[in-house]
Amino acid sequence: MAGLIISPRARIFHGHDWVYATEIKKTFGNPQPGDVISLKDFKDRALGSAIYNPQSQIVARRFSFRKQDLNLDFFERRFTQALKARQETDINPRLMRLVWSESDALPGIVIDRYGDVLVLQATTLAMHQRLDIIVEAAQNVYQPQGILLRNDSAMLKSEGIEPELKILSGDVPESFIVAQNYSVGNINYEVQLFSGQKTGLYIDQLQAHDEVAQYAKGRRVLDIFSNQGGFALAAAKAGATTVTAVDISESAVESISTNAKANELEITAIKSNAFDYLRTLEELSEEESHDLIVLDPPSFTRNKKTVKEALRGYKEIHLRAIKHLKAGGIMSTFCCSHHITQELFLENIVSASVDAKKTIKLIKTHTQRLDHPVLPALPETLYLKGYTFEILASK
Ligand code: SAH
Repeated sequence: MAGLIISPRARIFHGHDWVYATEIKKTFGNPQPGDVISLKDFKDRALGSAIYNPQSQIVARRFSFRKQDLNLDFFERRFTQALKARQETDINPRLMRLVWSESDALPGIVIDRYGDVLVLQATTLAMHQRLDIIVEAAQNVYQPQGILLRNDSAMLKSEGIEPELKILSGDVPESFIVAQNYSVGNINYEVQLFSGQKTGLYIDQLQAHDEVAQYAKGRRVLDIFSNQGGFALAAAKAGATTVTAVDISESAVESISTNAKANELEITAIKSNAFDYLRTLEELSEEESHDLIVLDPPSFTRNKKTVKEALRGYKEIHLRAIKHLKAGGIMSTFCCSHHITQELFLENIVSASVDAKKTIKLIKTHTQRLDHPVLPALPETLYLKGYTFEILASK
């Protein structure tokens, strides 16, 4: 089998599964893009099997410590393991991420279940080349009514994969209603499978919606970067006095209104750039003001180079929110970029509170839901961090 000899001190010797070009000492046996290769250390000791793509920034991704082919039996075993791990949690089985890439030792495969339908992403070349076996294994293990391929991210080009959106098997409706059981009550979501952001919903935030909703009763809630209104809907269900949701996307704002109606909840949905909207908070009268603000922006940076710029963005939204909130007010803020560490993110929030001359108290930490498992040896798997703060009365 062809493969790579890895240089000493590479990340893989510290438990990581990725190999960058700079970490390769030697390539042997002429591997082809998409091949399964073996990894070895400089003393010829085996490090496991990996998928290979010299075009990608991550040249090899290890998926097993053993010699292993990507065959039907392998995918069925991995899919079964992933399902079993999730069945041990109390996550709603009809609305969950069944498979999450490296965290389930299946680099590049994401499978989300919406009711009877699976939405699949295959974002590494090797997995994309094996879509047929993956679909067969997913059918055998999960028995869905249909499987949709949502390979529509622009990022795929760097892997040498053409973006694609198509039904791979069975029937897949354009949209349908799926119920999420929060502790504050059930919310029915309309999911647009072909066009909704990510694979349809932000499944990773479903737990945080519930956690933040615990503070919503009797409060005037503002959900910024709302998408389909996950935080807004849960807050309204929990008994918020008023709920306003803001997103820049026309279709997101439409779906907030559709979802609010379907759940008989009242939400004011506004299409606006969040930065513009937050600037108008200063002008609100006492009665119009908010006392719970949720900030859940998209990743402001996808690489290390733009971290500084991203931090300026976070600082601005934090500053505007903290300035607006009175003592007893609450801010929940999220960061989904793994390039911004927890320390950097917290530092950013503190710096905004210092500028606003307010003291904030951390009352709850949030993270991605358990169906997006974190492997500490692969720090990139911990990407979503969130904090809820109470604004304290001045000292
Ligand atoms: N809170 C949502 C997920 C938000 S994802 C949930 O829990 O489901 C980030 C959202 O920010 C996306 O819906 C995107 O359309 C929106 N967005 C991106 N840039 C924006 C901007 N400048 N102003 C307002 N919304 C923006």
